[in-house]
Amino acid sequence: MAFGEMALVCPTGDEPHHALDWQTEQPVRLLRNVMRLTAPNPGFMTGPGTNSYLVGDAGTGFIAIDPGPADADHIERLWHAAMHPDGSGGNIAMIVCTHSHADHSPGAAPLQALCAHAPPILGLPSAPTARAASAFTPNNSLQNNELLRLIPRGLEVGFTSSHTLQVIHTPGHAANHICLLLLEDGLLFSGDHILNGSTTVIDPPDGHMGDYLQSLDTLLAACHTHDVQFILPAHGHVLGGSLATAGGAISHLKAHRLKREAKIAAVVAAHPQGTVEDWLPLAYDDVAPRVWPVAKRSLLAHLEHLELIQGQHTKASAP
Ligand SMILES: [Zn+2]
Repeated sequence: MAFGEMALVCPTGDEPHHALDWQTEQPVRLLRNVMRLTAPNPGFMTGPGTNSYLVGDAGTGFIAIDPGPADADHIERLWHAAMHPDGSGGNIAMIVCTHSHADHSPGAAPLQALCAHAPPILGLPSAPTARAASAFTPNNSLQNNELLRLIPRGLEVGFTSSHTLQVIHTPGHAANHICLLLLEDGLLFSGDHILNGSTTVIDPPDGHMGDYLQSLDTLLAACHTHDVQFILPAHGHVLGGSLATAGGAISHLKAHRLKREAKIAAVVAAHPQGTVEDWLPLAYDDVAPRVWPVAKRSLLAHLEHLELIQGQHTKASAP
């Protein structure tokens, strides 16, 4: 699962050392202009923890992607890692949240408050369908395809940015989900839309299976347009290593979902009088029962996508 990460960090294969264990105390340098600091929130839904990323360098300042939960120690470590040329912290130009879930965006406000110049919090506002715990309003709302540029200080006039993130709106896991393309380096920050080591939950009504599948197509097309070789997820190690493997990871996810959906359709056809509770253990007989309460959310999303239940039904039955 970490082949992509080794290919990114050690392209020649002769790098003496790159630790793959999860670092919550020290940022891990993945590229000259990309660091990852994992929040200390490992768990059933978060895997090894939420990956916060810092993109940029001391000369341009940094964009912080997904500050994570409001964990004071983690936020302080992020602040320290974003160094000015003199070694002091807080060199953050913008804070971007891929979406509003509790393991991604609540750290944004305390990180902003720590930085002397209060960098703006960017993202998409949560939709009315979001759960109360996922309510989120950025300082500035991003547009699809908008470019976020980091430009070296003092060279603003006529200088071509060395770090440019392109926003891609990718509803599906959450209605306000975005991914970010680092154009100069062919990297995709995939938030929770694409994970390494687990399958993202589609939780209606804010999660939507049709949107999720369509967003995978959007991401695959963007990978081909921009020669994306690596995918950096919000949970898990780097994926990819080449356009073929990065694109392959996306195609695999889509195939996996459609295979599950076909299985669900077959289960429902065999048990037309059944309920969601009856279909769940049959449709997910290949996963541990402890996963079923979460799988039920994705099952509802598939049933809605298959038009076997109404969207309103999933909304009404949401806990
Ligand atoms: Zn997450």
